[in-house]
Amino acid sequence: MGEKVRVRFAPSPTGPLHIGGVRTALYNYLFAKRHGGDFILRIEDTDQNRFVEGAEKYIVESLKWCGIMPAESPESGGKYGPYRQSERKEMYRQYADQLIKSGNAYYAFDTPEALEALRKKMEEEKAPNTSYCASNRLTMDNSLVFGIEEAEKRVAAGENFVIRFKMPDNNQVEADDLIRGRVTVNTALLDDKVLFKSDGMPTYHLANVVDDHTMDISHVIRGEEWLPSLPLHVMLYKAFGWEMPQFAHLPLLLKPDGKGKLSKRDGDKMGFPVFPVEWHNPDGEVYSGYRESGYLPQAFINMIALLGWNPGTEQEIFSREELSELFSIDRVNKAGARFDPEKAKWFNHQYIMSQGLDDVTEAFMIELQKHNISVLREFAAKVCDLTRERVNFVHEIWQQSAFFFVAPAGYDQEVIKKRWKENTPELLRGVIENVMQKTRFDAFLLKPALEDYCNNNQIGMGPIMIGLRLCMVGAASGPDLFAIMEMLGKEEVIQRIETGLQKIK
Ligand code: GLU
Repeated sequence: MGEKVRVRFAPSPTGPLHIGGVRTALYNYLFAKRHGGDFILRIEDTDQNRFVEGAEKYIVESLKWCGIMPAESPESGGKYGPYRQSERKEMYRQYADQLIKSGNAYYAFDTPEALEALRKKMEEEKAPNTSYCASNRLTMDNSLVFGIEEAEKRVAAGENFVIRFKMPDNNQVEADDLIRGRVTVNTALLDDKVLFKSDGMPTYHLANVVDDHTMDISHVIRGEEWLPSLPLHVMLYKAFGWEMPQFAHLPLLLKPDGKGKLSKRDGDKMGFPVFPVEWHNPDGEVYSGYRESGYLPQAFINMIALLGWNPGTEQEIFSREELSELFSIDRVNKAGARFDPEKAKWFNHQYIMSQGLDDVTEAFMIELQKHNISVLREFAAKVCDLTRERVNFVHEIWQQSAFFFVAPAGYDQEVIKKRWKENTPELLRGVIENVMQKTRFDAFLLKPALEDYCNNNQIGMGPIMIGLRLCMVGAASGPDLFAIMEMLGKEEVIQRIETGLQKIK
């Protein structure tokens, strides 16, 4: 690749970013990393009717949580700024004017009623293209009919106007997509899209193309839903006489059953988050997020990376660095990628197991605070180490380990019925006296000491083990009993046995 790679993620702040958007951002980021290029965040906020309070902040926070950090952005600035389209407002008009001058665009003054009437008429006539286009534009209220001078007078008099692109009739537009190959469309099927409105704002199409050009964007990597806009964008580049970036349209993200596009509402309906972090809608509705649901950002990113891309090997676990080295557009699929919430949990489990124990402990310490527990970090780390293989999420560690912090409030009656024998109390008293009082509380010493005691007195270990476990945990579950006892310490262990002996009947 000759020129410098510069890619952008260009969300509109019309709501929270869903995982499809995160994937677009991630692929852009990885592509930039792989080619030593720049990844840019540009906020496309020209459509003020669709503006949603808090959405931009949400997007920035989500990218931060994912570790997808832009080199240039509204927050950090950069030499191609501003990076918010509303702040670039002044520059778009001149580009629209340039297209009018070169005959590629025109002023139009049609009222909403006139546009509605046109649509109806075209539909009644069963026209192949029912929109404002080459076949009907000369019947409408625009400068192609009465000339630029007249139009400029009406604009100066304060009339509402738009500037439309003059789509050539019956031309083949060809564009190369890095994922889909050559895309060919006949312009007869396209309409004269609005590029600029009298509120002084460009539309998405004009602003997007002008910004990609003026920001020296080399590759446009975006969702498949923008593929229908590609012919117009190609025509705009041609009309301006600008070199085009390369395009890559990413496959759709599909619902878990593969039927249809994964939508913003699906997640909470189907019981999994579709947003990276929790979103509070201005109407008060709250949508769950991966962060709040206990996912580690690395696991989340790893899972997202494989939705539509694969490295061509069986490997599934990748660090961010590995992804940056391996990612390539050639290995992005054309077909939609089915989202699998169970796989997401699996990824999280893998990361909980493989992550430095420190990160898991860090997250667990926060969890402990929620339960008003304060312990030494070292103790929490040991608990994490003993229980993490049983959980998919850090918060589940608490469910697996509460007994390390608080004595059991009750005992599993089923287990008592089946396995607490008449002589269990006597056996446990014997263990306190002959093993616990005499042995250092270390798992490696306790185990052989208990085994010896049982052997020498011809007592079965089974009833003692289950009795002790019930007293420590309240149930027949939990990690290695000797490890539990070592961590609880002699005093607490004996105390729990005494309590058990009183309460278990
Ligand atoms: N503003 C568009 C969006 O919200 C950007 C599409 C593009 O990347 O060109 O997705």
